[in-house]
Amino acid sequence: MSNNQDLAARDLKVLWHPCTQMKDHEQWPPIPIKRAFGVWLEDFEGNRYLDAISSWWVNLFGHAHPAINAALKDQLETLEHVLLAGFTHEPAIALAERLTQIAPKGLTRCFYADNGSSAVEVALKMSVHYWRNEGQPQKTRFMTLENSYHGETLGALGVGDVGLYRETYAALLLTPIRVMSPDAYQRADDETAKDVALRAIADLKRALDSQGHEVAALIIEPLVQCAGGMRMYDASYLTLVREACDHYGVHLIADEIAVGFGRTGTLFASNQGPITPDFLCLSKGLTGGYLPLSAVLTLESIYEAFYAEHLAQKAFLHSHSYTGNALACRAALATLDLLNETTLARNHRLAQHMLASVETLQDHPNVAEIRQTGMILAIELVQNKKARKPFDKGERLGHRVYRHGLSAGVLLRPLGDVIYFMPPYVISPDEIELMGKTAVEGVHQALKNH
Ligand SMILES: *Cc1c(COP(=O)(O)O)cnc(C)c1O
Repeated sequence: MSNNQDLAARDLKVLWHPCTQMKDHEQWPPIPIKRAFGVWLEDFEGNRYLDAISSWWVNLFGHAHPAINAALKDQLETLEHVLLAGFTHEPAIALAERLTQIAPKGLTRCFYADNGSSAVEVALKMSVHYWRNEGQPQKTRFMTLENSYHGETLGALGVGDVGLYRETYAALLLTPIRVMSPDAYQRADDETAKDVALRAIADLKRALDSQGHEVAALIIEPLVQCAGGMRMYDASYLTLVREACDHYGVHLIADEIAVGFGRTGTLFASNQGPITPDFLCLSKGLTGGYLPLSAVLTLESIYEAFYAEHLAQKAFLHSHSYTGNALACRAALATLDLLNETTLARNHRLAQHMLASVETLQDHPNVAEIRQTGMILAIELVQNKKARKPFDKGERLGHRVYRHGLSAGVLLRPLGDVIYFMPPYVISPDEIELMGKTAVEGVHQALKNH
């Protein structure tokens, strides 16, 4: 019989975990999960953990959802996978039809890849290749926002702005033009979120004025910079950024890998502009958290610039072995069947409930703010509330809240000192109560003994 301890010991002999200082596991071994259902993960000793972060933001309708399970079993008996070059299959076609139907108007073409970073790289390559096909080969650079995150393969990492990562791998990375983020956390006392968005647009325009001619695309995370600490911004930025990109002849890439599929309160965050980006990158929630898959949606006019007689002439050069995997596409179709107006309305109520569950922390002297966009709620811990001075990294307050959460049966993996909720949409009001109560207790405890 397997138990937590034996499995953790075997794990630590052979595995190397992502985004982890493995030495930490001497003190806190990894938790082996035996099974999962709804919002719950269960280990080998019967302990349960409420998955408050949707297993890194991928799970939309809970673990082991009966409808997605059934669709996958059926697909497994029919077709597991076939190459997507020269061949095609029903789930890939049906999913592309569905995605282009529900996406912002004008996005009529769907290109598949198999993870978020690859989707970002597809969009980057398509943009540069488009300009080359259109006789503008000088447009090869990218613009990115401060504090942005677009994945961790070299191209995706190269257009992100995650300090430690950029520094460590600098020798391997692109050097994009970095412009101000509209992140509302940066607001001065007399500023609104919209004022910050306007300042960010002014900064963007300055950069476009001097360098727009060499820029292929600007990449943004619409509404929430998730990995950057769940930093949120005003929707007016989306409309203004679209106008600026049009004016300067620069593509707009909307990386909705984390915020797509209802996370921000609308089906896509871009809907809150509303805007149509030139490229829309989707992954994470796409398959409901079941299988790796990503898609890049784009405009017919961009697709047409690649249409010619021979491969060597203009065709887009990109493929992955598992491009458009049939099981993954089928999981995505079953997930989209569950996502409708009713889900969004229910999420709206759940979101209010999430806020109410931690409301008492608003006045805590070490809580800079509680912010929320749809089904994402974040609590940022600071040493000094007024000056928003962060704690020293070594204090690991976020980590302390995380440890408290695990002991109370809630998985609250933080981003530094930002504690956040990003739960599956099937979470119940009672489960929200537990999640909120645990976070509140965790914050009090962590700060009491620090
Ligand atoms: C997670 C994420 C990515 C990268 O996706 P992976 O599947 O982890 O490669 C890219 N952009 C954003 C906004 C993300 O949150």
